[in-house]
Amino acid sequence: MRALYIGRFQPYHLGHHAVIKEIASEADEVIIVIGSAQRSHELENPFTAGERYLMISKSLRDDGISNFYIVPILDVNWNAVWVSHVESLMPPVDEVFTNNPLIERLFEERGYEVHAPLLFNRKEYSGREIRRRMLNNENWAILVPEAVTEVIKEIDGLRRMENLRRSDRQ
Ligand code: ATP
Ligand code: MG
Repeated sequence: MRALYIGRFQPYHLGHHAVIKEIASEADEVIIVIGSAQRSHELENPFTAGERYLMISKSLRDDGISNFYIVPILDVNWNAVWVSHVESLMPPVDEVFTNNPLIERLFEERGYEVHAPLLFNRKEYSGREIRRRMLNNENWAILVPEAVTEVIKEIDGLRRMENLRRSDRQ
């Protein structure tokens, strides 16, 4: 069974990680789609697709997981054709895992079996909360896998966000 998991991963956090680890233990392969791949250098979307790719692949490999493929996908801003767009770029999948009601709806209409994984500590394991902490010098590192902290350090991610905020205010 090949399973699909979709997110923006801005950044990849321990909530995503817990769900993907669970799916990977049951499925033969997990296809991880990085959505809004073209977006980066924005306060809501600070990291590039390549940076997010690194965060996900290093975190999973650190935990000994290798049955995954990562596919970055650009937005088409056209909901009615979005599933076909995703299908044209990823390996075929049997099941879809998402908590996003629009994604659930779009895949169900195309005949897919869609599951909603359990949310882990959603108050803190949330991209929005982690970006907020990054901008306010609060402890965000406890909410992400260690590999994510390393990637963000390597690309000087905090300084990028600080710069984005400054240019936002001008
Ligand atoms: P943002 O706040 O930027 O929207 P997010 O934390 O919601 O970030 P996404 O990349 O938007 O992360 O979500 C991808 C998928 O991960 C969605 O299906 C979402 O419901 C799921 N997800 C997000 N947080 C958790 C969590 N704490 N536990 C389990 N799944 C989660
Ligand atoms: Mg979200």
